[in-house]
Amino acid sequence: MSPVRPFLSSKLDGFGTTIFAEMSALAVATGAINLGQGFPDTDGPDVVLDTAIAQIRSGNNQYPPGRGEPGLRAAIAEHQQRFYGLTYDPDTEVLVTAGATEALAGALLGMLETGDEVIVFEPMYDSYQAGIALAGARAVPVLLRPVPGAGYGFHPEELNAAVTERTRMILLNTPHNPTGKVFTRDELQIIADVALAHDLWVVADEVYEHLVFAGHEHISIATLAGMADRTLVVSSGGKTFHTTGWKIGWACGPAEMVTATTTAKQFLTYVNGSPFQAAIAAGLGLPDQFFAGLAADLEAQRDLLEQGLRAAGFEVYRADGTYFTTVDIRPLRADGDGMAFCRELPGLIGVVAVPNQVFYMNPEHGRHLVRFACCKRPEVIAQAVERLRHLASGSR
Ligand code: PMP
Ligand code: GLN
Repeated sequence: MSPVRPFLSSKLDGFGTTIFAEMSALAVATGAINLGQGFPDTDGPDVVLDTAIAQIRSGNNQYPPGRGEPGLRAAIAEHQQRFYGLTYDPDTEVLVTAGATEALAGALLGMLETGDEVIVFEPMYDSYQAGIALAGARAVPVLLRPVPGAGYGFHPEELNAAVTERTRMILLNTPHNPTGKVFTRDELQIIADVALAHDLWVVADEVYEHLVFAGHEHISIATLAGMADRTLVVSSGGKTFHTTGWKIGWACGPAEMVTATTTAKQFLTYVNGSPFQAAIAAGLGLPDQFFAGLAADLEAQRDLLEQGLRAAGFEVYRADGTYFTTVDIRPLRADGDGMAFCRELPGLIGVVAVPNQVFYMNPEHGRHLVRFACCKRPEVIAQAVERLRHLASGSR
C-alpha cells in the first residue's frame, strides 16, 4: 500500500518551489535574459577567486571549526568595526554560516518558541516566511507602501499596532529586497524605539550593505543607542564579492544570541565551504575603494535599467540600493496580473523578471508589481531594455 499521508509537513503548507528556481529554469529553457534571480554575471575580485583556488590546492578541504575559520571571523569583526564602528569579539560574537539564509534560519530556529510572533516588513525575501513557519512561530506583516515617483515607506502606527504580547522579534532587511529601499536613520529609530519599548530582539539582514547608491547610506540598526545588545546582524559575501554560489554568510551579535543561533545552525549544515571562508576573508580586507567602486558600477546599471523600464511604459519605483527595481505593470497590462506577466514575458520578448506577489503574505498587495535585477553587464541590460521596448509598441 502506498502512503496516504502527504509527505510535506503541514508546517510547509503553501511553500512550493521558490520563484527563483522556477524563473531561472524558465530563463534557461527559453534562452531569455535572466533579470529575475539576483545574481551577477561577472566574477568578483581576483584576490577572492585566487585565494579560494590556492586554499583548495593547499589542502584546506576538510571541516572548518564549528563557528567558522578564525581568520574569517576576525575579518568579519574588523569589517564591522571599519564600516560601522561596531565591536564584536570574533570568538564569541561572530558566527560563519552557509549564506545569510542559514544565519536567518539558525536565528529563527534557535531563538523562537512555538507561537511567538515575528514582525516583518512586507514585501520580504521569501525565506523569512518559511523560516518563521519552520520555527513554529507566526509572521506579522507591516506593509511597505510604494510612493509613486519615489521609494517605499511604512506607517509607524501600523508598526506599533503589530506588537502583541507574543511578539519576540522584528526581522528587518535593509537595504531591502525586493523594493531597493534603504531605511533612513529616522525610520530605523522608529523601529528601534518599538524594540526597546517592548523588549524585542532585532534580526537585521544586511546582505546588500555595500550596494547603496549616491545620496543614501546604509545604517546598521545595531549602531543605534541601546540596540547592539539586542540585535543580530546578518550578512554574506555573495553579493559583495559576486560569489552567490559559495554561500558564505555570517551573523554578529551579543554572545548569547550568537550561541542560540549556533545551537540550531550546527544541526543544519554544521559547517560549510572551508576554502571559500578564507577567500571571503581576503575580500573583506580589500580597501574602501573596492566597496565604493562596487556601488558606483551597480548604480550605473540601475540607471540603465530604470530608464529602459520607464521608456517601456512601466511605473517605476526608485531603488536606492540592492540589485532590484520594482515596477507597476498596469500601464502595460490592464489586468495587473504580475505572475501571468512574468510567465509570459520570456516567450514574448526573451526577458525574465520576478512577480513581487511571492514576497507578500497578502499576495494582493503585490499582484501588479514585478521586480527586475540590474546586476548584469551593461550590454546585457541594454539588450533587455531593447527587448522591453517591444512591449510598449505591442501594448497588451
Ligand atoms: N537576504 C536577502 C534580503 C536576500 O536577497 C538574499 C538573497 N540572495 C539572502 C538573504 C540570502 O543570502 P545568501 O545567498 O547569502 O544565503
Ligand atoms: N536573493 C536572490 C533574489 O532575491 C536569490 C536567492 C535565491 O535564489 N534563493 O533574487
